[in-house]
Amino acid sequence: MSRVRVRDLEKVYDGTQEIQAFSAVNFDVESGEFVCLVGPSGCGKTTLLRILAGFEEPTSGEVLVDGEPVEEPGIDRGMVFQEYSLFPWRTVEENVRFGLDRPACECADCTARVAGLIDLVGLDGFETAYPKELSGGMKQRVAVARALAVDPAVLLMDEPFGSIDARTRNRLQTELLDIWRRTGKTIVFVTHEIPEAVALADRVLVMRRDSGPGLAASIDIELERPRSRTDPAFTERVAAVRNVLDS
Ligand code: ADP
Ligand code: MG
Repeated sequence: MSRVRVRDLEKVYDGTQEIQAFSAVNFDVESGEFVCLVGPSGCGKTTLLRILAGFEEPTSGEVLVDGEPVEEPGIDRGMVFQEYSLFPWRTVEENVRFGLDRPACECADCTARVAGLIDLVGLDGFETAYPKELSGGMKQRVAVARALAVDPAVLLMDEPFGSIDARTRNRLQTELLDIWRRTGKTIVFVTHEIPEAVALADRVLVMRRDSGPGLAASIDIELERPRSRTDPAFTERVAAVRNVLDS
């Protein structure tokens, strides 16, 4: 059974004017798979991810996680947003703790779990720092640790490195792959940067605006990791995704 199943998903926003974000979207994500969703701004990536998270209802169709229909946010799914979504008045440790099912719990297990997550994202030593004392990359590491706190089956990430400078971004990508390997999580990662998708994903799902129903393509990357951006096979995959977007 697939970890995530998306069936005939459609979203129409009703306002003064109806906006169809997408329709007839179908895909599966296997357990432990790293899938990137790419497409231009406005093509519906955030909407799709918010429906997977249970923050938004589809107009029609359904999402199943481990066979269960998604109707609301749940601890089987963790989300990392593009904007830093940390609580500014909480320390790193308190922000991560807030991701736990029972944030107020001070038992040894919960405390050890929080310490382990801070270590996993490379922030040991910063437990008592406040978000304003952290760089953008560090804040997103905290957001990843917080999303992992309940040990979700699926990690959903919406352009998490979008506001981060290129060098830090490459380092965060490497760290995320390391976390993925160590935790075995299923990841759905949204980006509009094609090389980022090719660097990370097992498979890239391509969304276009106004391309009619469904996803435009699903492209298997099939390259060993770590991947080199100068490898001809890498640039060939980037070109393949770009072709779909430009056609
Ligand atoms: P992306 O993340 O790919 O940039 P979005 O999912 O944010 O795309 O948006 C897809 C489309 O849906 C856009 O046309 C956007 O204007 C519209 N949209 C997104 N959120 C809302 C909303 N809350 N109300 C109305 N329209 C929305
Ligand atoms: Mg978006």
